[in-house]
Amino acid sequence: MRATVIHAAGDVRLEQVPDPQVVLPTDAVVRVVASCVCGSDLWPYRGANEVTEPRRIGHEFVGVVEETGDDVQLRRGQFVVAPFVWSCGGCAPCRSGVQTSCERGGGWGGPDRDGHLVDGGQGEAVRVPRANGTLVPVDGVDEDVEEGLLKSLLTCSDVMGTGWHAATRAGVQEGETVVVVGDGAVGLCGVLSARMKGAGRIIAMSRHAPRQAVAREFGATDVVEARGDEGVQAVRELTDGRGADRVLECVGTHDAMLQAIRSARPGGTVGYVGVPHGIELPIELMFRRNVNVAGGVAPVRAYGEALRDAVLAGDIEPGKVFDAVMPLDDVAEAYTAMDERAAIKVMLRP
Ligand SMILES: [Zn+2]
Ligand SMILES: [Zn+2]
Repeated sequence: MRATVIHAAGDVRLEQVPDPQVVLPTDAVVRVVASCVCGSDLWPYRGANEVTEPRRIGHEFVGVVEETGDDVQLRRGQFVVAPFVWSCGGCAPCRSGVQTSCERGGGWGGPDRDGHLVDGGQGEAVRVPRANGTLVPVDGVDEDVEEGLLKSLLTCSDVMGTGWHAATRAGVQEGETVVVVGDGAVGLCGVLSARMKGAGRIIAMSRHAPRQAVAREFGATDVVEARGDEGVQAVRELTDGRGADRVLECVGTHDAMLQAIRSARPGGTVGYVGVPHGIELPIELMFRRNVNVAGGVAPVRAYGEALRDAVLAGDIEPGKVFDAVMPLDDVAEAYTAMDERAAIKVMLRP
């Protein structure tokens, strides 16, 4: 089959690789119907995380179960969403809803705990370990699913679940004011999540017109383009001089985290989900203003069924974050488009 391999910063290639197979009784092989490029794929692509040797990449995909090991209860032909890590569903962290800390789980695109390769998501098929625990089944949908619905289901693999985690850990309540820092796909899904939780006012921080338009469609009532001191000032002016009840930090840089913490009202909470790169928390400022910071890597598996059902019911259309669709052959071009911010998020079709 063909799959994406990252060789070095700026160098991703679609290559011929061995077909995945069921190795362990808990495995399934999923044929990928759609995958995508994630903002976090850009960290190694931009050289922020070193690539020491060529490796598979891609961790967001949906597809159809093609083969199953003896212990797997999913049927062949079942449409499934794969969360961005695989997990057993049975250990203590999994049972407490932190599947990202699964004691038997791991990530896509590297070896599992027995040394068997787990394929990356940006390919034609994937060996899925711990398939019963990992995969979210979607009934009534097959590989010919309409593109809009396909896009929305694909967001349940990462960005919608991650935006939802930010809003959940921030503790967004009905009628509250929420600021969202970050206008990537996760930030936009954070706006949508805040709306689903009944936020009264949602302030999206964004400088890009196409992203502002999606944010407004998802429920943003205000857009703030300014950053730094001016951004904080603009948020205060919209919130009676106090700051927002809840802030979602969906970037992961020091500046974004500082923006988030300074945008919160005294006693407010920041829910953070951006992969941290060089963040130092201003603990004295947090102490003085009683600002809470909660969050971490999103256990999207915990939210899989609820978000799937909201998508299937037509309550939400998070798939609107995909503003480009490309064939898997053009994966290098998809990375370039994401890197240059020419696209919010690119869906790839094998
Ligand atoms: Zn991702
Ligand atoms: Zn587990």
